Parts: sequence; structure tokens; C-alpha cells
Amino acid sequence: MRAVVAGAGIVGLTSAIALRKLGIETVVHEQASEIRAAGAGLGLWANALAVFDELGLGDQLRAIGKPAEMYFRDHTGELIRPPEYSAEDHQYLLVHRARLSDLLADAVGRDNIRLDSRLIGYEETDAAVEIRLEGGATVAADVLIGADGAYSVVRSLLLPGSDAVKHKGHHAWRAVVRPPEGAAIERGVIVLGEKRTRGGYVPTVDGTVYWLVNQFDADPLDGTPKKQAAERAAFLDTTGWNPALPALIEATPDDQVLHNQIMLVPPLPRWVSHRVALAGDSAHALSPHITAGASLGVEDGLLLARLLASSDGVADALAAYERDRIPHYREVNELSQRVEDSATPEEFATNYVAFSHWMINR
Ligand SMILES: Cc1cc2nc3c(=O)[nH]c(=O)nc-3n(C[C@H](O)[C@H](O)[C@H](O)COP(=O)(O)OP(=O)(O)OC[C@H]3O[C@@H](n4cnc5c(N)ncnc54)[C@H](O)[C@@H]3O)c2cc1C
Repeated sequence: MRAVVAGAGIVGLTSAIALRKLGIETVVHEQASEIRAAGAGLGLWANALAVFDELGLGDQLRAIGKPAEMYFRDHTGELIRPPEYSAEDHQYLLVHRARLSDLLADAVGRDNIRLDSRLIGYEETDAAVEIRLEGGATVAADVLIGADGAYSVVRSLLLPGSDAVKHKGHHAWRAVVRPPEGAAIERGVIVLGEKRTRGGYVPTVDGTVYWLVNQFDADPLDGTPKKQAAERAAFLDTTGWNPALPALIEATPDDQVLHNQIMLVPPLPRWVSHRVALAGDSAHALSPHITAGASLGVEDGLLLARLLASSDGVADALAAYERDRIPHYREVNELSQRVEDSATPEEFATNYVAFSHWMINR
């Protein structure tokens, strides 16, 4: 069997590793001229670590990550501890996205990744799928996996009219930065602030710090991304209990503050055809207030590879994949919505850990 994966993001690369490990010849086509990983840090939860353990990459991954805990504080610095959950429900591994992408690309094998190779179309027949690339080349495969992110071309062809939509007023600002002189940061701090803000910082394995600021229902933005982040950081500390976040933002060069308008892929009625499947953000770009899109997405890749390796035919495998994933993500969306709709920081913290508990114990 021969597979083509469109997109060398975390999910596309992980899918390719799983497919190759299970004996399926796989080539990844990435539109960019390098394996890029915009977005600074990434939290990987136990469910994602289990996927990487299964793929034989767990130790390498832990070597480039730093264990961290997701406990929230309120805007006065008070720690919120939902009583009914265990320590494991709060634990994750923080990695640099770029280092993770490098590790995954090496594991796929750089020879199996085509850069500057953008999928622009495909034709499906009973016997194969023919993929069209920008520039005119075509590639034939038994199965095409669209891991091409929230703005997926594969999804737009499989399900016309399924464009990603703006999560109205939801913005994120983030960067990885070396802490300013004299400001040693030993532990992460994440705050649920006023005016529907969230944010804080987490130390990474190499002495740098990942900071992030998010806001639901933000007013129209004004000024540079750095200024926007700094203004919102004020809602995370109303009593002056923690000057570290403003100092980290201040220490970040303007052009290194990454700002995103959050985009969502609304629940899809289909994820597959006979020879084409979606995986990762292309199928389910989620709001990052649950910090889990990648952790969930890598599970798609492993499941798909297992089903393709064990089923009688591609169409059967893809149908089984869709039967599993649609109800699974219905639940993800319900739990995620519950977190978003929380009326108080305590309710948010409880609904958040209820979600992570569900995700890592399924
Ligand atoms: C602010 C923020 C914070 C987040 N924090 C976390 C977190 O802590 N933990 C977590 O688990 N998740 C987190 N997420 C979610 C996570 O970033 C995504 O779910 C994950 O990166 C999706 O990976 P992907 O491979 O599906 O898509 P992408 O990373 O979008 O990769 C898609 C790839 O496909 C390529 N591509 C696109 N179109 C084509 C084409 N036509 N042909 C070929 N290539 C193409 C792109 O260039 C790209 O390389 C966060 C998201 C945001 C916005």
C-alpha cells in the first residue's frame, strides 16, 4: 500500500511515522520550503505521549521537553485546585514546536518528505487516488491523508463549503524568550484573569520561557501585537502579585510576538471518502483554550495507520476511522464548550481538568 500525506505539521509527520512503522510506504508533501513550526511552545498530554511511546519516540521526546503542570490561579494570584482530580490530570510535557518538528521529520526520514510541494487537487477512482501538485506534477497513491491544517485544501475538495471560521473575538499572543537578567523563573504560572483573559508562562527545558496571553471576546485590536499582549496581561494581575509576565513580554522583540486570530473547523458530517481521509486540524481545528489540538490530532494519525494496516481494504479502514472519530470529537467539542462557557475561574478550572481527565483516560 502507498500513502500520501499532505502537510508536514505535527499530525502529518506523526501519521507518516505510524504508517511507515506499520509497513505502509508513505511520502509527505509539504507546501512550505522548510519544515516550519510556528507557535513557540506546545503542551503534550499523556495521551499524546502514549502515541509517541508506541512509535518508539517517547524517550527522545521527553529529552526535549520539560514536565509541567496545568493549575490555574485567579487574577489575585490565588491558586484554584479542583478537589476531585488527581495530580496526573494536570500534568503535561512542554516542548518547543520547532524541536518537536525536527525530531518528527528525522523519524519520518527527510528523503520521504517533499518540500515546496503543495497539493492543489486530487482525482479518486476505484483503484487509486491521483494527487495534483502545484507546478503540474501528479502522484498516484492508494490513500491520501489530508493533514494540511485548518485551511485544508483536501477538506475543501472533500467537503466543499466547510471553510474554517473565526472564533469571534478570540485571540492568542505568545513567544518563547530568555528571561530578563535576574528574573529566574522556576515554575509555570497560568492565570484566569478578568475580561475573559487567560495567560501566563512556563519554563522550557533549555532555560527559555514560553509565555502566552489569550482572550475571548476581545475588543477590536489596536497597536502592535506586543502592546496588545501587554495590555491584556494587566487583566491577569490586578494586585501586583506577579511582575514576571509583563517583564517577559517586555523582553520579547516585537517581531517575535506571535499573534493569532483563533480559527475553528466546525464539526464535519464526513471525514473520509473511499480513498481520502482528514486528520488533525484539517478535520477539527479546536479552540486552544483546551491546549489539546495537537495532543488529540496525533491520535488520529496512529489510529488511521493501524486501521489501514489491519483492514481488508482502504475504504473499510477509512469508514472505521470515521465511525470512531466523529463521535469522539463530538464529545471533545462538548467538553471544550463547557470550559469556554464557564462563568467563574473555579468553574473554568474544574471543567478544564474534567476535559484533560477524560482525554488522558480514554
Ligand atoms: C495559540 C495556540 C496554542 C495551542 N497550544 C496547544 C497545546 O499546548 N497543546 C496542543 O496539543 N495543541 C495546542 N494547539 C493546537 C495545535 O497547535 C494544533 O492542533 C496542531 O498544531 C495542528 O497540527 P496539524 O499538523 O494538524 O496542522 P498544522 O500544524 O496546521 O500543519 C499543517 C501543515 O500542512 C501544510 N499545508 C497546508 N496546506 C497544504 C497543501 N495544500 N499542500 C501541502 N501542504 C500543505 C502547512 O504548511 C503545514 O505545515 C494550540 C493552538 C493555538 C492556536
